[in-house]
Amino acid sequence: MVKPNSEVNSKSVKCDFMGCYKCCIETEMILTDDDLNRIENLGYDKNEFCLDTKETDGYWQLRNKKSILGNTCYFLSNQGKCTIYENRPQGCQIYPLIYDFEFEKPIIDVDCREAVYFNKQKYSQSQIITLEKLISNLFR
Ligand code: SF4
Ligand code: SF4
Repeated sequence: MVKPNSEVNSKSVKCDFMGCYKCCIETEMILTDDDLNRIENLGYDKNEFCLDTKETDGYWQLRNKKSILGNTCYFLSNQGKCTIYENRPQGCQIYPLIYDFEFEKPIIDVDCREAVYFNKQKYSQSQIITLEKLISNLFR
């Protein structure tokens, strides 16, 4: 069901599909330095919420944990809510908009449960700039 407040705003893609947390299962989200600092400032230790960088080519990547919902992001509660929603990584804020490296352009991730809905939305230049900045920060 499409929730009326699932929307695309100037900086992020707000997903409010009731009960969906598919993108928080077996996440491979990579974090920027700003993401790391912001989350550590909440009192979390990066060595606990991230994988060892030796396993991830030097990138800080969210760790998954076993929970009653499956192999889920460290920050997903058993009720399927992000416990750091206001401070979640930039990649989570912009998802399901992702960057297709093969075709060098932003696309909607086909793995998103509601990819058809998001594909019909209009993405503004500012969101695309946000995504491109994020990619260039991560892979510089
Ligand atoms: S940080 Fe939050 S939004 Fe991002 S994958 Fe984890 S639970 Fe999901
Ligand atoms: S998989 Fe798609 S619809 Fe589901 S929570 Fe993530 S962004 Fe929203």
